This record gives sequence, C-alpha cells and structure tokens, in this order.
Amino acid sequence: MEKRQELYKGKAKTVYATDDAQRLIMHYRDDVSAFDGAKLAKLEGKGETNNRINAWVMGKLAAAGVPTHFVALLNERESLVKAMKMVPVECVVRNVCAGSMAKRYGIAEGTKLAEPIFEFFLKSDALHDPLCNEDHIRVLGWATPREIDEMKAITHRVNAVLKPLFAGAGIDLVDYKLEFGHPADDPQGPLVLGDEFTPDGCRLWDATTGEKLDKDRFRRDLGGVIEHYREVARRIGVPL
Ligand code: UDP
Repeated sequence: MEKRQELYKGKAKTVYATDDAQRLIMHYRDDVSAFDGAKLAKLEGKGETNNRINAWVMGKLAAAGVPTHFVALLNERESLVKAMKMVPVECVVRNVCAGSMAKRYGIAEGTKLAEPIFEFFLKSDALHDPLCNEDHIRVLGWATPREIDEMKAITHRVNAVLKPLFAGAGIDLVDYKLEFGHPADDPQGPLVLGDEFTPDGCRLWDATTGEKLDKDRFRRDLGGVIEHYREVARRIGVPL
C-alpha cells in the first residue's frame, strides 16, 4: 500500500489517497480547533494520542458487530480506512445534559437524562452545524428514511457498547458525535461508521470527581488537554 496525494485537510486530520481507490489514509495532526474553527491551537502529541484512542475504540465497536470504516493502524499518526461517501449530518447521543443542549433549553450541565437523547445536526461550519430533525433530512434530501433509521440504530448500539466500557474505567460517557457514510465499493449497501471517536468529539467526565477529560478542556481554557486525553487512554487500556 502506497501513500499518494493529499485529498482533504480538515481541522484536525488530513486525508490522503493510496494506490487502492477503496482505501484512504487518515493522518491525525496536532491541531485542535473549537467553535467551528474560530479557536485554533497546536498541542504536541495530540495526533498520536487520538490516532491510538480511535483505533482502540473502533476495534471494540467492530468486535461488538458495529460496521466501521477503520481498517488498520499504520503508524503513530496514521490509520488506514475505507474510502467513503459521507452523509452530511452529524449524530449526537447524550446520556447527560451538557454543551449546546444545556444552553438551548436552559438546563444545568450535568443533569442526568432518564434515557439517551438523540439529535441530528447538519454538517456545515458556515451555518454553525444547525440542529435539524428527520423531516429536514428527508425532505431536503440529505439522507433517505432508511439511512436515518440506520444512523439512529447504530448510534444507539455504539452507546450500548461504549457507555459500560468507559464506566468500567471510572469515566462517564456524557455525549458524543458520530458520522456515517457508504463505503465507495458498496454505495447502495448499509451505512458504516466513519470519521473518528476520540476525546475531540465526545464528553468524558471522571465518574467520581466530574473532572473533564475531553475537548472542553481546550474550549473552556482548563489546561492540561493532552494530559487528560492520555489519562483517558491509560484508564481504558490504550497502549501509548
Ligand atoms: N461535537 C463534535 N463536533 C461538532 C459538534 C459537536 O464532535 O461539530 C461533539 C461535542 O464534542 C460533544 C457532542 O458532540 O461531545 C455534543 O456537542 P454539543 O451539541 O453540546 O456542542 P458543543 O457545545 O460541544 O459545541
């Protein structure tokens, strides 16, 4: 497998083509961003830490029967993934109220939810990822009813796998964001989990102290961002 040209540079990862049209390389950089790119920084060691946490989580999900785009960890900062055509919506599940939900409804952060709440957001930095519902997605053609059902079902399954997994490490999985797509070699087939699962895209709170172990440390200038990401890795047993 040979690394070819850069295809896309996102806020934290760069995607490269390979000599196989069905496979891409995801390179995790040290860049961190928040508020749709309005706040930017470089944090040494972040790329490597997130690449390894993501590989570990994707492995656990695959073992539990969740289809993912992850193929293999290539080196410290790179993973091989399936080339995908992504659905332009983000799926969020919340076990505890925080972030934009707390603000939107005026509910205190940390309020426990009797059952997980699912939310869709349109993927658009320019529009600041607005909340949307199934009618918006279906009628405006962002995804089909079948894809909507699949995204919800897989996202809830991910919760059933990851919530106990983090709980076993003394961590509350508060909320997280997932993205889905169709592998390039099976565009009509079932949806597959894409993108990443790292502390950049979820909220993880220490189960005893409530200490934040995720990107809110960067968003809210709490300091020790990478130290806390590494603490997550250490607790769940990711070799760094
Ligand atoms: N999230 C993300 N990317 C986004 C928006 C949200 O990874 O573009 C994650 C975020 O880290 C959190 C969850 O999705 O774990 C819910 O985020 P929320 O809607 O509360 O927005 P925030 O206040 O984090 O912008």
